[in-house]
Amino acid sequence: MRNIQKITIGIVIVTLIILVWYHFRANTKTYTITPDNFRFMNIDDSSKGGLSSSAIKFKEGKAYITCEVVKNSDYPWPYCELEISLSDNVFQGIDFSEYNKISLDIDYTTSHPNKRLRVYIRNSHPAYTRADERTSLKFNGIEYSPGFGDGKKAINLDTFQVLTWWIADNNIDIEHASTDFSNVPIIEIATASGVTEGSFEIIVNSIEFQGVWIKESTMLKILLYTWLLLIIGFILYEQSKLHQRLRKSHQRAAKLFKLNQRLTEKNVKFSELANRDPLTGALNRNAVQDWLKEMSQQVRWDKQDFSALFIDIDNFKHVNDRYGHQVGDDILREFVLLISANIRSSDYLVRWGGEEFIVFFPETNSHQAKHRAERIRNIVATHQWCHHNELTCSIGIAQMGDERITEMIARADEALYKAKSNGRNQVISANPVLS
Ligand code: GH3
Ligand code: MG
Ligand code: MG
Repeated sequence: MRNIQKITIGIVIVTLIILVWYHFRANTKTYTITPDNFRFMNIDDSSKGGLSSSAIKFKEGKAYITCEVVKNSDYPWPYCELEISLSDNVFQGIDFSEYNKISLDIDYTTSHPNKRLRVYIRNSHPAYTRADERTSLKFNGIEYSPGFGDGKKAINLDTFQVLTWWIADNNIDIEHASTDFSNVPIIEIATASGVTEGSFEIIVNSIEFQGVWIKESTMLKILLYTWLLLIIGFILYEQSKLHQRLRKSHQRAAKLFKLNQRLTEKNVKFSELANRDPLTGALNRNAVQDWLKEMSQQVRWDKQDFSALFIDIDNFKHVNDRYGHQVGDDILREFVLLISANIRSSDYLVRWGGEEFIVFFPETNSHQAKHRAERIRNIVATHQWCHHNELTCSIGIAQMGDERITEMIARADEALYKAKSNGRNQVISANPVLS
């Protein structure tokens, strides 16, 4: 946003500079017409049978025309004038269409009461100009009083008019009837139209065409379009930034979501780890603590059957001694897999200690438990173990009575002890709890 402020201030300053520059006409262009760069000539009616005479002199870039206009019955419009030839070819003049003023600094002295001068900017166009006919050049004209020592007088080219007799005499189409300064081969400055007699002195100090490099309307249009472009650009830029921010925040949200997911997974894993025996992957005592509390309540209130098998691998010390601890570990793992595969999903296998396991059977009485325990014992005894030798286990069974879980486990342990002392590889049920 701060950048945008800077840019806006910058553009406002540039706009102001342009406006001020324009206001003070710093963009004006001038085209100066002097006797040094163009041909200045004096003309009078003597060439057309009149009696007037004239002369021209030049001094310090100025032109001095003196003339004596004489009344003459043979020529009814006596005159004298300065003719400025801008080009040798009447069809190829100078284009002043980009100029809007002509600035004239002329000092005019005359004995005649009409102190006005005629100024003609003659324009050439193939539609009406003929090479052999001077009058076929369009007359863009005005009459004005230059005064003496008045300095420059800027005349708007808009105030020039095409002479109506010229339009009529040359049968000019309407499209060529208005002023045109696009191809000017000649400029004329002549005594006023009503002058019949007298002496005249015309001093041409300077002639300049004035224009502007850029028209006001063009400049305002450029400024307007520039502003519009900048505003559109700014909107697009802001939109793309917003888009980027949105995308980034989406990405961040997605990342956070993933991280969260991973953390949740990890938490699950950790809680799993806390509940599982690292060697065999079987549940540990801790894992079933709450569940056992619930079960004991259910047994107490709902009179649900609940049994436990205390399983101990027979002569495991011997296996370790003979095959090594590594093999012993493998057998423990295999043992867990084997038992897990042969119990219901509602049953829990817990590693109680070294090579001792308890399987909890919900909704199972001691009779059903005995049956399942026998099955497990048989599976263990007939399984092809990784050390390629026989392995057996002894099992003590207890059904939960009006007692605590620990008491039931202790009774199962007692039953197991009996199974061991009876020669191992067998299942013994504990005595029922006396009520
Ligand atoms: P019994 O038939 O009387 O149960 O004889 P036993 O040798 O199985 O019983 P005892 O309690 O004398 O020995 C248990 C053995 O189990 C001792 C110990 O080395 C082994 N053991 C306990 N935990 C692990 C274990 O995580 N890995 C291995 N490899 N052996 C274990
Ligand atoms: Mg043992
Ligand atoms: Mg043991």
